[in-house]
Amino acid sequence: MKTVFITRRLPSIARELLAKHFDVIANKENKPISRNKLLDAVSKYDAILSTVSDKFTADVIVKKKNLQVISNYAVGLDNINVPFAKQNGIAVYNTPGVVTESTADMTFALLLSLIRKIDEARIFVKENKWSKWSPEIFLGEELYGKTFGIIGFGRIGQAVARRAVGFGLRIIYCNRSRKKLNNRYLANHMRQVDLKTLLNRSDYISIHVPLQNDTRHMINTKTIGEMRKNPIIINMARGEIIETASLISALQNGTIRGACLDVTDPEPLEGTHPLVDMKNCVVVVPHIGSATVECRYVMARRAAENIIHHFI
Ligand code: NAP
Repeated sequence: MKTVFITRRLPSIARELLAKHFDVIANKENKPISRNKLLDAVSKYDAILSTVSDKFTADVIVKKKNLQVISNYAVGLDNINVPFAKQNGIAVYNTPGVVTESTADMTFALLLSLIRKIDEARIFVKENKWSKWSPEIFLGEELYGKTFGIIGFGRIGQAVARRAVGFGLRIIYCNRSRKKLNNRYLANHMRQVDLKTLLNRSDYISIHVPLQNDTRHMINTKTIGEMRKNPIIINMARGEIIETASLISALQNGTIRGACLDVTDPEPLEGTHPLVDMKNCVVVVPHIGSATVECRYVMARRAAENIIHHFI
């Protein structure tokens, strides 16, 4: 019987499905396994169901003996050296599509939380400072009529665009290849531009590209210099797409007026990090874009099915 290792405590559906076909061993704890344990797993099992915390670098992959499948519980595959895995006869799978709606929801949850000062207002009530209605407290900004730029118009970028239409935003997007929208209603509300135009015109910039060589540090001092409207930047993709030092100085000098960060570089971010300290213009959450019960259940099921379909 083939053996499968699950590297992290995940929704039980993954183990239940896999156990019908394979010998399944699972880390029962909600914390990532050590590098040594990962090396051990690579040399021991036929398949691994992994998470973004498990770094399959070349020096880890070379330890493989019978390993034939890595099924990542994520859309992004940036924790795996995919070309090297493939050269070594390992098939790599992810869970595209199923995270789209939850991650798109979170994009607007973070943006609205920042521009409508939800966190500060909540703390104000909690600290018993709400003594009367005031016309002047917590004045935020309205989305309606502003320009919303989407970098990366794939599944999540398009799901974000659908929501943006509802808010009355003007939508522009850039994408590596030409993207034609079949839905005429949506097509009438948005248009594709190049990156420079997007940076130049957007009040909000939302990032939805995968982390790869050409997107690492895509937002840097030079590209920030092309932003003309002191935008708010939203990163729902991967932390390393933004050069953190450049972001911090842009926030300090006002070139960027706010940041909504589901992902950061480094990740996790220490509570003492300068970005966490910038409470008035930054919202940081711990990589929870896909963290809904519905989404995590389907991710677990898909990650298990990827292994089952590979072998059976
Ligand atoms: P997707 O459907 O593959 O979309 C990615 C889009 O980015 C594609 O349309 C692609 O263009 C475009 N792209 C790639 N390189 C580009 C570049 N250099 N410049 C402009 N556009 C570029 O992926 P998805 O499902 O939307 O997911 C996107 C990313 O979100 C994932 O890779 C993952 O890292 C991240 N993510 C984060 C969370 C979270 O919890 N925060 C959850 C899910 C996913 P082409 O059409 O030309 O390929």
